[in-house]
Amino acid sequence: MNRSDFPILNQQVHGKPLVYFDNAATSQKPQCVIDAISEAYSTWNANIHRGTHHLSQVATAKHEEARTILANMIGAKSSKEVLFTRGTTEGLNMLAFSFGEAFIRSGDEITVSAMEHHSNIVPWQMLCQRKNAVLRVIPLRDDLTLDLAAYEHLLSPRTKLVSIAHVSNVLGIINPVEEIIRLAHAHNVPVCVDGAQSAPHLPVNVQALDCDFFVCSGHKMYAPTGIGLLYGKEQWLNQLPPYQGGGEMIQHVSWEGTTYNELPYRFEAGTPDYVGSYAWGVAAQYMQQCGIETIAAHEKQLIAYAEQQLNALAAELSSQISRIAIYAAGQKKAGVLSFNIYDAAGNLIHPFDLGTLLDQLGVAVRIGHHCAEPLITHLQVPGTIRISFGLYNTTDEVDLLIAALKRAIQILV
Ligand code: PLP
Repeated sequence: MNRSDFPILNQQVHGKPLVYFDNAATSQKPQCVIDAISEAYSTWNANIHRGTHHLSQVATAKHEEARTILANMIGAKSSKEVLFTRGTTEGLNMLAFSFGEAFIRSGDEITVSAMEHHSNIVPWQMLCQRKNAVLRVIPLRDDLTLDLAAYEHLLSPRTKLVSIAHVSNVLGIINPVEEIIRLAHAHNVPVCVDGAQSAPHLPVNVQALDCDFFVCSGHKMYAPTGIGLLYGKEQWLNQLPPYQGGGEMIQHVSWEGTTYNELPYRFEAGTPDYVGSYAWGVAAQYMQQCGIETIAAHEKQLIAYAEQQLNALAAELSSQISRIAIYAAGQKKAGVLSFNIYDAAGNLIHPFDLGTLLDQLGVAVRIGHHCAEPLITHLQVPGTIRISFGLYNTTDEVDLLIAALKRAIQILV
């Protein structure tokens, strides 16, 4: 893993070396990905699938090769099961629409968890509204892990789909998705895994997980913005109606009606982002060269180190602050860590104030509800400070964060 592969990191912000700890929002891009975009537009750009001419054939081959690279990366049985989307959000909306049209009737239930991102809540709420269905929520235990006993009770003949985050974008907790899938399958219920925060940090194998659907976003995985994927088992995708009409999703169109193309094209209306898919393939190969296990181990070590250093800071500043609340401290996590700091009187130091001062000191963190308002409401805070790691982050940068926090606390209390 070579930090110098990422040109953007080599800069100063407000006169301080940039520490980029906002990878859960989006990752930075290695030079090979930046070059791939430039190469595409400089040498082979042409619209795909429809051309007899050379450039179109090259572009088509690049797009389809990328699909194969990504299918292999997530362990899909066939590249037909990988549908390109604009990102996780679009994948979940596609699924909510298509699955909803095919399978959801009045009174049916869809189950999500209390730690979901809005992208894995709102499309299901919209579906429930359209179909007069019911959204059920798996509650959290006191330690903020999912209450699996309560989950088992929620599963019933009315349950038609479970959609669950693999890794929480606020807590970083790795959910026991294998167990969740096993329990759902025992009731013949399919499961969608929101992999937006797992695929960048952990090896993923959809066949080993046995999930029925899986979604993730390229831009969180060192690839450009605007490209993501929805994986679905072939037998499920074959039962779903298309999401959008037009372009390559058709077989024949006449005034009498339209017949639809085969997988995966049936779900890819309009000109796909073939430059994005190609660059994502390059990013995936870059991750594979670094070694996904190696990335996972490196980031796990960063989380452990950050938790340890935050605790040490709380002890050191015990006359100025009463505590640093690390959410889900010590749980199995990937990539993400959230915390809040309380002053000596026990009042929350507003995360917005800390985030603003950290930025002045060159440290990019995210503060707020992180598009998971129900979870933040459950935590009874206005927001958290979230740090999230990429393969290029270092323990030295964690030290810079701790030094910056110390400065900020001294200014604020
Ligand atoms: N789901 C989770 C768990 C996320 O963390 C995110 C983004 O932060 C999303 C879904 C939405 O991803 P995107 O904005 O790339 O569609």
